[in-house]
Amino acid sequence: MQVTVVGCAGSFPGADSPASCYLIEHDDAAIVLDLGNGSLGVLQQHIDLTRIDAVLLSHLHVDHCIDLTSFYVFRRYHPTGVLPAIPVFGPTDTAQRMAAAYGLDADPGMAGIFDFRAIGDGQGGPARFEIGPFVITTTPVVHPVEAYAIRVDAAGHALVYSGDTAPTPALTDLARGADVALFEASYLDGMGNDGVHLTARQAGEHAAAAGVDHLVLTHLVAWHDRAASAREGSAGFGRDVTLATSGLTLTLGSH
Ligand SMILES: [Zn+2]
Ligand SMILES: [Zn+2]
Repeated sequence: MQVTVVGCAGSFPGADSPASCYLIEHDDAAIVLDLGNGSLGVLQQHIDLTRIDAVLLSHLHVDHCIDLTSFYVFRRYHPTGVLPAIPVFGPTDTAQRMAAAYGLDADPGMAGIFDFRAIGDGQGGPARFEIGPFVITTTPVVHPVEAYAIRVDAAGHALVYSGDTAPTPALTDLARGADVALFEASYLDGMGNDGVHLTARQAGEHAAAAGVDHLVLTHLVAWHDRAASAREGSAGFGRDVTLATSGLTLTLGSH
Protein backbone atom coordinates (compact mmCIF):
# COMPACT_ATOMS: atom_id res chain seq x y z
CA MET A 1 0.00 0.00 0.00
CA GLN A 2 1.32 3.40 -0.96
CA VAL A 3 0.17 6.81 0.26
CA THR A 4 0.96 10.08 -1.48
CA VAL A 5 0.43 13.40 0.24
CA VAL A 6 -1.20 15.56 -2.42
CA GLY A 7 -2.19 18.43 -0.14
CA CYS A 8 -1.21 19.02 3.48
CA ALA A 9 -1.89 22.73 4.02
CA GLY A 10 -4.12 23.33 7.01
CA SER A 11 -7.34 25.33 6.77
CA PHE A 12 -6.44 27.06 3.48
CA PRO A 13 -4.06 26.30 0.59
CA GLY A 14 -0.43 27.27 1.12
CA ALA A 15 2.07 28.57 -1.43
CA ASP A 16 3.63 25.12 -1.77
CA SER A 17 0.70 22.80 -1.10
CA PRO A 18 -3.03 22.50 -1.73
CA ALA A 19 -5.35 21.89 1.20
CA SER A 20 -6.02 18.35 2.45
CA CYS A 21 -5.82 15.44 -0.02
CA TYR A 22 -4.19 12.01 0.20
CA LEU A 23 -3.95 9.37 -2.53
CA ILE A 24 -3.90 5.72 -1.40
CA GLU A 25 -2.97 3.00 -3.92
CA HIS A 26 -2.66 -0.77 -3.71
CA ASP A 27 -2.36 -3.07 -6.72
CA ASP A 28 -4.53 -1.33 -9.33
CA ALA A 29 -6.92 0.24 -6.82
CA ALA A 30 -6.86 3.91 -5.87
CA ILE A 31 -8.85 5.94 -3.38
CA VAL A 32 -8.59 9.57 -2.32
CA LEU A 33 -9.03 10.85 1.22
CA ASP A 34 -10.36 14.44 1.08
CA LEU A 35 -10.33 16.87 -1.86
CA GLY A 36 -9.51 20.25 -0.37
CA ASN A 37 -9.02 23.49 -2.30
CA GLY A 38 -6.48 23.22 -5.09
CA SER A 39 -5.93 19.48 -4.68
CA LEU A 40 -7.53 18.25 -7.92
CA GLY A 41 -4.82 19.99 -9.94
CA VAL A 42 -1.82 18.57 -8.08
CA LEU A 43 -3.53 15.15 -7.84
CA GLN A 44 -3.08 14.89 -11.63
CA GLN A 45 0.71 14.89 -11.11
CA HIS A 46 0.29 11.55 -9.33
CA ILE A 47 -2.55 9.67 -11.04
CA ASP A 48 -4.81 9.66 -14.08
CA LEU A 49 -8.06 10.94 -12.55
CA THR A 50 -10.07 8.28 -14.42
CA ARG A 51 -8.33 5.63 -12.26
CA ILE A 52 -9.79 6.82 -8.96
CA ASP A 53 -12.19 4.22 -7.56
CA ALA A 54 -13.70 6.21 -4.68
CA VAL A 55 -13.45 9.43 -2.69
CA LEU A 56 -13.76 9.65 1.09
CA LEU A 57 -14.49 13.03 2.71
CA SER A 58 -13.59 13.32 6.39
CA HIS A 59 -15.89 16.33 6.83
CA LEU A 60 -17.42 19.18 4.88
CA HIS A 61 -15.15 22.11 5.67
CA VAL A 62 -14.03 23.64 2.38
CA ASP A 63 -10.37 22.76 2.89
CA HIS A 64 -11.37 19.05 2.83
CA CYS A 65 -14.13 18.77 0.25
CA ILE A 66 -14.60 21.65 -2.18
CA ASP A 67 -12.60 20.25 -5.12
CA LEU A 68 -15.23 17.51 -5.42
CA THR A 69 -17.13 20.18 -7.40
CA SER A 70 -14.20 20.31 -9.88
CA PHE A 71 -14.02 16.50 -10.00
CA TYR A 72 -17.73 16.64 -10.90
CA VAL A 73 -16.86 18.80 -13.92
CA PHE A 74 -14.10 16.37 -14.95
CA ARG A 75 -16.44 13.37 -14.83
CA ARG A 76 -19.59 15.06 -16.15
CA TYR A 77 -18.01 16.76 -19.19
CA HIS A 78 -15.18 14.31 -20.02
CA PRO A 79 -14.51 14.23 -23.80
CA THR A 80 -15.05 10.44 -23.91
CA GLY A 81 -18.50 10.92 -22.40
CA VAL A 82 -19.85 11.00 -18.87
CA LEU A 83 -17.65 8.76 -16.74
CA PRO A 84 -19.30 6.00 -14.65
CA ALA A 85 -20.43 7.09 -11.19
CA ILE A 86 -17.98 6.34 -8.39
CA PRO A 87 -18.76 6.17 -4.67
CA VAL A 88 -18.22 9.27 -2.54
CA PHE A 89 -18.31 8.52 1.18
CA GLY A 90 -18.98 11.55 3.35
CA PRO A 91 -20.98 13.03 6.22
CA THR A 92 -24.75 12.67 6.07
CA ASP A 93 -25.52 15.82 4.05
CA THR A 94 -22.67 15.57 1.52
CA ALA A 95 -24.89 15.22 -1.57
CA GLN A 96 -26.93 18.33 -0.71
CA ARG A 97 -23.90 20.41 0.28
CA MET A 98 -21.97 19.59 -2.89
CA ALA A 99 -25.02 20.32 -5.06
CA ALA A 100 -25.47 23.68 -3.34
CA ALA A 101 -21.77 24.52 -3.70
CA TYR A 102 -21.99 23.93 -7.46
CA GLY A 103 -25.36 25.65 -7.84
CA LEU A 104 -27.34 22.51 -8.70
CA ASP A 105 -30.83 21.68 -7.50
CA ALA A 106 -30.61 19.16 -4.66
CA ASP A 107 -32.51 16.71 -6.87
CA PRO A 108 -30.83 15.29 -8.88
CA GLY A 109 -27.74 17.17 -7.68
CA MET A 110 -24.63 15.20 -8.66
CA ALA A 111 -26.45 11.85 -8.85
CA GLY A 112 -25.24 9.82 -11.84
CA ILE A 113 -21.76 11.30 -11.47
CA PHE A 114 -21.19 10.40 -7.84
CA ASP A 115 -22.83 7.68 -5.75
CA PHE A 116 -23.04 9.37 -2.35
CA ARG A 117 -22.82 7.09 0.71
CA ALA A 118 -22.42 7.66 4.43
CA ILE A 119 -18.84 7.50 5.72
CA GLY A 120 -20.22 6.67 9.15
CA ASP A 121 -23.27 4.64 10.11
CA GLY A 122 -25.57 7.36 8.77
CA GLN A 123 -26.31 8.66 12.28
CA GLY A 124 -22.92 10.10 13.18
CA GLY A 125 -21.52 6.80 14.44
CA PRO A 126 -18.58 4.62 13.31
CA ALA A 127 -18.57 2.32 10.31
CA ARG A 128 -16.55 -0.40 8.61
CA PHE A 129 -16.74 -1.18 4.90
CA GLU A 130 -14.60 -2.36 1.98
CA ILE A 131 -13.52 -0.65 -1.25
CA GLY A 132 -11.70 -3.19 -3.45
CA PRO A 133 -8.65 -4.35 -1.47
CA PHE A 134 -9.06 -1.65 1.19
CA VAL A 135 -10.83 -2.22 4.49
CA ILE A 136 -12.03 1.16 5.75
CA THR A 137 -12.84 1.86 9.39
CA THR A 138 -14.15 5.27 10.40
CA THR A 139 -14.88 6.83 13.75
CA PRO A 140 -16.45 10.17 14.70
CA VAL A 141 -14.00 12.72 16.05
CA VAL A 142 -14.30 16.08 17.80
CA HIS A 143 -14.80 19.07 15.47
CA PRO A 144 -17.51 21.76 15.11
CA VAL A 145 -19.13 19.75 12.29
CA GLU A 146 -19.77 16.03 11.69
CA ALA A 147 -16.22 14.73 11.17
CA TYR A 148 -14.46 11.38 10.97
CA ALA A 149 -11.02 9.87 11.29
CA ILE A 150 -10.34 7.19 8.66
CA ARG A 151 -8.31 3.98 8.91
CA VAL A 152 -7.28 2.13 5.75
CA ASP A 153 -6.06 -1.48 6.03
CA ALA A 154 -4.67 -3.45 3.09
CA ALA A 155 -2.20 -6.32 2.71
CA GLY A 156 -1.45 -6.42 6.44
CA HIS A 157 -0.62 -2.74 6.75
CA ALA A 158 -2.60 0.21 8.06
CA LEU A 159 -2.73 3.95 7.65
CA VAL A 160 -4.81 6.24 9.86
CA TYR A 161 -5.80 9.78 8.89
CA SER A 162 -7.15 11.99 11.65
CA GLY A 163 -9.15 14.41 9.51
CA ASP A 164 -9.64 17.48 11.69
CA THR A 165 -10.13 16.85 15.39
CA ALA A 166 -9.55 18.12 18.89
CA PRO A 167 -7.95 15.64 21.32
CA THR A 168 -10.02 12.45 21.60
CA PRO A 169 -9.40 8.86 22.70
CA ALA A 170 -11.39 7.79 19.63
CA LEU A 171 -8.40 8.71 17.45
CA THR A 172 -5.99 6.70 19.58
CA ASP A 173 -8.32 3.69 19.51
CA LEU A 174 -8.65 3.84 15.74
CA ALA A 175 -4.90 4.19 15.19
CA ARG A 176 -3.83 1.34 17.45
CA GLY A 177 -0.85 -0.51 15.91
CA ALA A 178 -1.00 1.34 12.57
CA ASP A 179 2.11 1.61 10.40
CA VAL A 180 1.56 5.27 9.54
CA ALA A 181 -0.47 8.00 11.23
CA LEU A 182 -1.29 11.11 9.25
CA PHE A 183 -2.36 13.33 12.12
CA GLU A 184 -3.36 16.93 11.90
CA ALA A 185 -1.19 19.43 13.76
CA SER A 186 -2.94 22.73 13.19
CA TYR A 187 -1.72 24.33 16.37
CA LEU A 188 1.44 24.90 18.36
CA ASP A 189 1.88 24.79 22.12
CA GLY A 190 -0.30 27.31 23.93
CA MET A 191 -3.13 26.98 21.40
CA GLY A 192 -5.67 24.27 20.89
CA ASN A 193 -8.02 24.06 23.82
CA ASP A 194 -10.96 25.15 21.71
CA GLY A 195 -12.37 21.76 20.72
CA VAL A 196 -11.39 22.18 17.06
CA HIS A 197 -7.83 20.96 16.35
CA LEU A 198 -4.75 19.22 17.74
CA THR A 199 -1.43 20.84 18.57
CA ALA A 200 1.63 19.13 17.12
CA ARG A 201 2.46 17.88 20.61
CA GLN A 202 -1.03 16.43 21.07
CA ALA A 203 -0.77 14.70 17.67
CA GLY A 204 2.47 13.14 18.90
CA GLU A 205 0.93 12.05 22.18
CA HIS A 206 -2.04 10.44 20.43
CA ALA A 207 0.26 8.56 18.04
CA ALA A 208 2.53 7.40 20.86
CA ALA A 209 -0.45 6.14 22.87
CA ALA A 210 -1.65 4.22 19.81
CA GLY A 211 1.77 2.57 19.28
CA VAL A 212 2.03 3.91 15.75
CA ASP A 213 5.30 3.20 13.87
CA HIS A 214 5.61 6.42 11.90
CA LEU A 215 3.93 9.77 12.53
CA VAL A 216 3.47 12.26 9.72
CA LEU A 217 2.20 15.64 10.88
CA THR A 218 -0.17 17.22 8.42
CA HIS A 219 -2.80 20.00 8.09
CA LEU A 220 0.11 22.38 8.72
CA VAL A 221 -1.03 25.99 8.62
CA ALA A 222 1.02 28.29 6.40
CA TRP A 223 1.52 31.00 9.03
CA HIS A 224 3.10 28.63 11.59
CA ASP A 225 6.80 27.85 12.00
CA ARG A 226 7.37 24.32 10.60
CA ALA A 227 10.42 23.81 12.77
CA ALA A 228 8.31 24.41 15.87
CA SER A 229 5.71 21.89 14.64
CA ALA A 230 8.45 19.29 14.16
CA ARG A 231 10.04 20.00 17.54
CA GLU A 232 6.83 19.93 19.53
CA GLY A 233 5.45 16.95 17.61
CA SER A 234 8.61 14.93 18.21
CA ALA A 235 8.50 15.81 21.90
CA GLY A 236 4.93 14.51 22.11
CA PHE A 237 5.69 11.35 20.11
CA GLY A 238 8.99 10.60 21.85
CA ARG A 239 10.68 10.06 18.50
CA ASP A 240 11.29 12.02 15.32
CA VAL A 241 8.23 12.86 13.24
CA THR A 242 7.92 13.62 9.55
CA LEU A 243 6.34 16.86 8.38
CA ALA A 244 4.04 16.30 5.42
CA THR A 245 4.90 17.99 2.14
CA SER A 246 2.97 17.92 -1.12
CA GLY A 247 4.44 15.01 -3.11
CA LEU A 248 5.66 12.98 -0.14
CA THR A 249 5.10 9.27 -0.90
CA LEU A 250 5.31 6.48 1.67
CA THR A 251 5.19 2.77 0.94
CA LEU A 252 3.78 0.97 3.97
CA GLY A 253 5.85 -1.98 5.07
CA SER A 254 9.11 -0.73 3.60
CA HIS A 255 10.14 2.11 5.88
ZN1 LIG B 1 -9.19 21.51 7.91
ZN1 LIG C 1 -12.29 21.25 9.62
